[in-house]
This record gives sequence, C-alpha cells and structure tokens, in this order.
Amino acid sequence: MAPVDNNRPFRIIVVGAGLTGLVTANCLQKLGIDHVVLEKGDVAPPKGGIAMWPHSIRILYQLGVLEELKKFSKPTIGFKGNGPDGRPVYDTQVYHCVEKNHGVSMWPVERTDILRIMYENLPDKSLVKARVKITDVKQFPDRVEVVLEDGTVEIGDMIIGADGVHTTTRDYMWAHAAKVSPGLITAAERTSLKSHSETLIVSTPPIPELGYRDIVITYQNRFNFLFTCTHDAVWAVVVFLFDEPLPWPHRKRYTEEHAEALAKLVMDKPITDQLVFADVWKRRREAPRVVMLQEGVLEHWHHGRICLVGDAAHKAHPNIALGGNTGIEDVACLMNHIWRAVEASPHKRPSGTALEAVFEAYQEEQKPRVKHIVSLSAMAARMHTFASVFHKFLANWVFPAFKDHWPADYIGQYFSSAPKLEFLSSEGFPTGKMPWLSDQKRASEGDEIGNE
Ligand SMILES: Cc1cc2nc3c(=O)[nH]c(=O)nc-3n(C[C@H](O)[C@H](O)[C@H](O)COP(=O)(O)OP(=O)(O)OC[C@H]3O[C@@H](n4cnc5c(N)ncnc54)[C@H](O)[C@@H]3O)c2cc1C
Repeated sequence: MAPVDNNRPFRIIVVGAGLTGLVTANCLQKLGIDHVVLEKGDVAPPKGGIAMWPHSIRILYQLGVLEELKKFSKPTIGFKGNGPDGRPVYDTQVYHCVEKNHGVSMWPVERTDILRIMYENLPDKSLVKARVKITDVKQFPDRVEVVLEDGTVEIGDMIIGADGVHTTTRDYMWAHAAKVSPGLITAAERTSLKSHSETLIVSTPPIPELGYRDIVITYQNRFNFLFTCTHDAVWAVVVFLFDEPLPWPHRKRYTEEHAEALAKLVMDKPITDQLVFADVWKRRREAPRVVMLQEGVLEHWHHGRICLVGDAAHKAHPNIALGGNTGIEDVACLMNHIWRAVEASPHKRPSGTALEAVFEAYQEEQKPRVKHIVSLSAMAARMHTFASVFHKFLANWVFPAFKDHWPADYIGQYFSSAPKLEFLSSEGFPTGKMPWLSDQKRASEGDEIGNE
C-alpha cells in the first residue's frame, strides 16, 4: 500500500448520497474542502415525495438550488383533517400562517427531483461515487480509512455518516467506541431507536377530490391515512400502529405481498366523505412499498473521527414531515463548526482534538432541537392513529379548536431559531412576521458575511 501522505489537504469522507449527504457535498464544494461521497446505490432514485419547510428552504436558497426547485414544487395551501367516517373535522389555513410568519411555507417535491437538483448543482460531480460497497472503516490517531470492495482505500481526516436509519457508519463508530471507550455506548442507547408503526407507501396521479395543493389526514383507530396532494401526484401513506414497539436492531423485510395484505385491511375505509382507500389503491402508479417507522434520538452522535448526521443520528415519525428537514439543519450546523475550525487551524487542517470539539459543539446545539421535533412528531402520530383515549380526545376536540395561527406560531419558533449556513449569504431570502434569529444575531454582532 502507498505510504500515507500527512501533508495532504484536510479531507472529509461522506457516507451516503441521500438528502443530507448531497447537502453536505454542496456545502463542502462551496467551502473548497476536499471530500468524497460514497453511495451504495444510485444517486436520486425515485422514492415518493418529501416536503421542505421554511428553515430548510432557506438553506437550499443559500446553496443556490431554489430557483430550480421552484420548477418542481408549488407550496401547499390546505390542511384538512377527516374523522374515521371520512367527514371533515377541520380545514385550516395553517400553511398560509406559516408563509405570513416566514415568507415561505411548506414545499412538497418528488425526492428524485430534489436529489437530482442537489447533485446537478455540484461543480465537481466526480467526487460522488455511486454503487460502492464499504467493507471496512479504520480509525488512526491522524486519519481515517474507508476500504471499498474493489480494494480502493479512501483516506481522510474524518467521516460524516449520512447513510440513513440503517447506517453502517454508526456500526463502525460503535465498534470503535467499544474498543477505545468501553461502556460509553450502552445497550439502552443502542435499543433506544424503536419502531412503533409501519407504513404502506403508494403514489398515484392527482386525485381531484383530494385537491392539488393540500395535505389530507384521515384519522382511524390504530391507523391513519395521510395524503400529500400536488398537481403531479398524490403521495399516500397508511400508518399502522404496532401492538408492541420493535427496538433496534429488529428490521422487518417487506415484500409486495405484505403491501397488498396491508392495503386489503383498509380497502373499504373512508378517506373523505366521498372516497374510500380502494379509490386510491386502484390508481397506484408503481409498486407499493412498506417501511418500518423508527423513532428516537441517540445520545452519542460522534466518536473519534466519525460524526453522524440526519437519520443515522435520529429518526422522527414522518407525519409532520420534519425528519429530513432536521437532517438538513444538522448539516448546516456541522458545516458552520467545521468551517470555523478549518479557518482557525494553522494549515487549514484541524487536529483530531479540534474535530472532537467541533462534533461536540454540533451535537450540543442540534440535539435539543431534534429531541423537540422527534417528540412533537410522535405526539402528532399518536393523535392521528387514536393511540389512546387521550390522543383521540386531542385529535377530535383540542386540535380542531386551535385557531390556524396557533400551530403555525408554535412551530414557527423552531423554524425561526434554526441555523443557516454562516459562510454563505442569505440576502434576498424572504422573511415574515417571525424574523430569522440567526440574521438578528449576526446583525447585533456586526459580523461580516464570509467567503462565497
Ligand atoms: C413515508 C415517509 C415520508 C417522509 N416524508 C418526509 C417529509 O415530507 N419531510 C421530511 O423532512 N422528512 C420526511 N421523511 C423523513 C426523511 O425521508 C428522512 O428523514 C431523510 O430521508 C433522511 O435523510 P438522510 O440523508 O439522513 O438518509 P437517507 O435519505 O436514508 O439517505 C441515506 C443514503 O445513504 C445510502 N447508504 C446507506 N447505507 C450506505 C452504505 N453502507 N454505504 C454507502 N451508502 C449508504 C443510502 O443508499 C441513501 O442514499 C419521510 C420518511 C418516510 C418514511
């Protein structure tokens, strides 16, 4: 093997080219930090939809992809809730209030479109290597090495694990921690990610009765329907509560027959006062899928030279569409700390100790925010499935009684306090009644916007 060059520039190995991996690559290319992104599958596979909220849309604006994204997404307008008989329980203008608060509201987009746009935006696409298999990860006092199946060894100063909920990077991180810090990662932490439910995922062409810019939720007993409706598609999920939660490492492998069996259970259930689920099912445009829905926040997001972002570190129930958004803000926060550490180090190459301080600062900032979102998502999910009498009461009586602006103002505090990329301008991005706190902080510090 060639000798290790210790004079090489600072280099980051990113594992995973999903949402967080591609946002990371875009940041690193803006910062001029050497890196490689290793993806086990294809870049931007077709996989249903994802909704972006204001704080993430601001980061996408900073990265220069918003104009392109606008061609593929129109903000959602209506938020409608129906009872088990399909009759309306509420019809709110909450997204309108979100837009008033922040200048933008929620944008649903096909995953393949947003991932392709992020990939196309990279000035150097050769740094993303798709269809690679990692066979080993080694940590040394001065570097990390990632070994690939074809014998290639990628050498860097640190690894960002952006490889989703079934992360391999985290397994290597835990194995390393067990060797050098025995007792740090407990069995309780490892099993703290639990699946309380599974979801059937189907997409269809637009269904006029459901609307074109609406979210429609239908509550049922121990399951719920949720439809994200656009001019191009309806992304439907049917969430089924488990009787008992399944902790990590349990993983169900589903087949199309499972999907069909689940669909059969709910075929005759109303989704509105005009439609039953069979009306959606018969329009499905590709093979249905089923996935387990893990929930939880790990205590340790980093160890040694490995740091985790997005679903590899935490997992939110998707009912309020914030899991991927929290991953984007993780990346923004981590990149801000890395940028500062690189600028502060004599050869623009932070030491192992400096990197640990970076990872710890990132974890400290993000963990409380993510915990809040994971528990809010869990509460919404339990409410939507009438998980208990208390949740049923909330769903039927408390939530419909809120004025539209209350939920928007509540979640708005979380949006307005989100990080942005401190090394890129956000000038020109809309603002609303609830100002972006990071802009206010910078203005009060009299700070200059840095490299662009
Ligand atoms: C039905 C559903 C709907 C959702 N809707 C929303 C929504 O509207 N809004 C929202 O914010 N969130 C939503 N989420 C959550 C969101 O999908 C995730 O939080 C988000 O995709 C996480 O991004 P990630 O980059 O961390 O992981 P992923 O998106 O899972 O990406 C991980 C990447 O790493 C790759 N990878 C995995 N292992 C390896 C390996 N060993 N080597 C190399 N590469 C590897 C994978 O192939 C993948 O490309 C939804 C989730 C579900 C299930």
